Amino acid sequence: MSSPAGQLPEARGARKAVRIRHYTAGRFHTDGEPFPLVDPVDGRTVGQVPEAGAATVDAAVRAAREALSGPWASYGPADRSRVLHRVADGIEARFEEFVAAECSDTGKPRELAASVDIPRGIANFRAYADLSASRSEQSWHTETPDGRGALNYTVHKPLGVVAVVAPWNLPLLLLTWKVAPALAMGNTVVAKPSELTPSTAELLAEVMDEVGLPAGVFNLVHGHGADAAGARLTGHPGVDAIAFTGESRTGRAIMHAAADQLTPVSFELGGKNAGIVFADADLEKAVAGTLRSSFTNSGQVCLCTERVYVERPVFEEFTAALAKGAESVPYGPLASAEHRDKVAGYLAKAAADGTVRAGGDSPVFGDARDGGFWVRPTVLTGLPEDHPAVREEIFGPVVHVAPFDTEEEAVALANAGPYGLAATVWTGDLSRAHRVAPRLDVGIAWVNTWNLRDLRTPFGGVKASGIGREGGHHSLDFFSEPMNVCVKI
Ligand code: NAD
Repeated sequence: MSSPAGQLPEARGARKAVRIRHYTAGRFHTDGEPFPLVDPVDGRTVGQVPEAGAATVDAAVRAAREALSGPWASYGPADRSRVLHRVADGIEARFEEFVAAECSDTGKPRELAASVDIPRGIANFRAYADLSASRSEQSWHTETPDGRGALNYTVHKPLGVVAVVAPWNLPLLLLTWKVAPALAMGNTVVAKPSELTPSTAELLAEVMDEVGLPAGVFNLVHGHGADAAGARLTGHPGVDAIAFTGESRTGRAIMHAAADQLTPVSFELGGKNAGIVFADADLEKAVAGTLRSSFTNSGQVCLCTERVYVERPVFEEFTAALAKGAESVPYGPLASAEHRDKVAGYLAKAAADGTVRAGGDSPVFGDARDGGFWVRPTVLTGLPEDHPAVREEIFGPVVHVAPFDTEEEAVALANAGPYGLAATVWTGDLSRAHRVAPRLDVGIAWVNTWNLRDLRTPFGGVKASGIGREGGHHSLDFFSEPMNVCVKI
């Protein structure tokens, strides 16, 4: 049995009951119909979240618009850089509170929130504080130095009011990944976290307030997506750009709404990421790497590997080791009862049509956790490539392993399907690594590793996995408008 260690709320120091608040125009409030906030570890209601109605979303967008011409307009790049570092300091100062809030909303193991989610939230602010400051040194620059009798220079201006809509899997990390560069480039923000995970966003609003960010520069509204706060925000005529992370289906709905105003979008969407294991790979490392890439955060990371193709001579050895490893990998619950039911639906179909090599069901604890949304890390084999469990994004702790015979076949299998976010190649042959990786239809290909990220590199997906690139200068580009000024000499 796998080890969901230290997962009882008592063991991780759960918070008291919480009441989540919106933050608009520098004011915290709870306008709107409340809905329950649930801890996925045991299914308990731990707080209330207000659903932002049209008036609240309007007020947030108006505040963000007004703030563009307030004191924020006089903040130069260095001032903005300084304030972003103060936000990072503010999160650091309340680190344990952020960790506890993230664990309570998501049910993830404390070690994960403390080693990934919250440190990356801090790093996002620091990275964009530094990057935008260094870009500002070049932001007034000539692009045609030969001149032809004119001096041309480029000014990078903010877009205006940016709507940031984030998912529940890495709540603070993914929200700040967009909020930080948006603010770094001088925009104002209205953010909406997932309805399932609003708590660290609220703590972030408190930090923004504490560091003295001018009122209206950062606004936070809570609520659901379709026909609710999310749709109200992304369809709002006062929004100048939309940065969204979530399901591809939601991206399509947001793009329809954005089309009316021709609002620019940056989308980080779903994935059905493949791993390719060649027989010349270090198998021990490939197994350990795949256990990480398939089961981190219980498979609820957009970059997680859900399909592995293994060269036939090592297929059985790899699969047996992966299945054995899956029995002892640490894991947490899924985000909600609805999501658990969706994953369980895929598992039922997979069990009927293929072979379950590990997991495949929910654990029984005999304690409060039996009310939570748990699914054991699962390894499947024997399903056809067009099976829903092999083709569709499950977003849970489930991986299917299949054999291949040639490099050509492995590339074709990995590239099949509607998504194109990330892939991982395991091989001991350097030439093969460089030959195969660029042929993969994805935004990110890792070789002999997974999720090794430098925040300055381009991040995003192709096909149904996204539009545009974020990370480093790519984010600064999205969140700003380059303007040409031409002076006749
Ligand atoms: P989701 O699309 O259901 O929700 C994401 C956010 O959008 C939430 O805040 C939600 O309230 C809001 N929303 C939903 N419908 C909306 C609508 N019609 N208009 C406006 N807003 C709406 O996604 P999720 O279930 O929260 O997250 C899981 C998904 O996110 C997976 O598909 C995963 O692959 C993807 N994801 C992608 C990346 C990436 O970087 N590519 C990262 C993390 C997660």
